Amino acid sequence: MPTDFTATRALFDLPEALIYLDGNSLGPLPRAAAARVAQTVTDEWGQMLIGGWNRAGWMDQPARLGDRVGRLIGAEPGSVVLGDTLSIKVYQALASALELAAPGRRVVLSDSGNFPTDLYMAEGLIRSLGQGHELRVVAPEAVAAALDETIAVVMLTEVDYRTGRKHDMAALTAKAHELGIVTVWDLAHSAGALPVDLAAAAADFAVGCTYKYLNGGPGAPAFIYVAPRHAERVRPALSGWLGHDAPFAFEPAYRPGRGIERMRVGTPPVLQMAALDAALDAWEGVDMADLRARSLELTDQFIAEVEAACPMLTLATPRAHAERGSQVSFGHPQGYAIMQALIAEGVVGDFRAPDILRFGFTPLYISNEDVSMAAAVLADVMAQELWDRPEYHARSRVT
Ligand SMILES: *Cc1c(COP(=O)(O)O)cnc(C)c1O
Repeated sequence: MPTDFTATRALFDLPEALIYLDGNSLGPLPRAAAARVAQTVTDEWGQMLIGGWNRAGWMDQPARLGDRVGRLIGAEPGSVVLGDTLSIKVYQALASALELAAPGRRVVLSDSGNFPTDLYMAEGLIRSLGQGHELRVVAPEAVAAALDETIAVVMLTEVDYRTGRKHDMAALTAKAHELGIVTVWDLAHSAGALPVDLAAAAADFAVGCTYKYLNGGPGAPAFIYVAPRHAERVRPALSGWLGHDAPFAFEPAYRPGRGIERMRVGTPPVLQMAALDAALDAWEGVDMADLRARSLELTDQFIAEVEAACPMLTLATPRAHAERGSQVSFGHPQGYAIMQALIAEGVVGDFRAPDILRFGFTPLYISNEDVSMAAAVLADVMAQELWDRPEYHARSRVT
């Protein structure tokens, strides 16, 4: 049965008279999440108190939800676990990947389109390792050619947060493996945005967040994937007690837990997990191929309508479907002020320095009518220069 996107839209609580094209930054509130969090607070925390860890299954949540997320990213059962933030999971994955890398290799390859925190975490890790590793950053288009036998790990975000450009995960992973390179994929803009097949691509490590396309809410936990062939070999750098084989034995020395459990660190965020568990219900009837078809239809439509009406905006997103995620970005020197004017007119996207207007298209709750309306409002903002007001130039802390 084809996915019913009218039904999925009804699962979300979106403010009236607002077109929300920022679900790639913070997904909206799934109606079921509010009730689930309230129930977890009242019935579980309130009534069970400490007993909730066993009776309400709080301790099993990170792996149970890992399997639910895993289904959306083509991960084998038991290969994904939730917890911490994406920055932390990047660090963990890269640290373990470097330990699996071919002896003597010292280069971590990434690209200049990667999200800064991924690069910052790599820098910090390299510094504390103190083994002379190098972080080599090339243009996104140059990654394939830059893979060679000096590289230990290639660490990439599949879909570029700024432009929406998508790497070919399967091809890059295959080429990396031919050269003995370990792969770390960041799925921040892929999970819930498009079909991902980690198992088929034979990816080694993957990480991602759940507050963007997966709608887990602000502060929702991140996830980490370790390929089953590595799961019993990886040595966690963040060797916390909940990744220990027997946390409640309180042994003085660390022993890694079984499989993916060892990638847990400390106490999981139970309330956030409850929200995410409810949010993941929205994906139950969704076929990822249908999602992809709708996403491409919506992004194609937005590109066509905006280009027809706004020649002063420069498309920053690839036109080729195979190279596009689920967002559309346009460049303009007044990008920040334009976005503030758009938000004031009821169309919410966001701005990414230096000059990118970014719009996320999430088929679970965005329709063709929303796309047309958003393009028309943007055309109006541009034609009338509605952005040219002092209040739209004042930068907020979050853009
Ligand atoms: C959104 C995003 C992050 C955010 O990291 P947090 O630790 O969750 O703040 C990291 N990396 C990428 C590629 C992202 O898109």
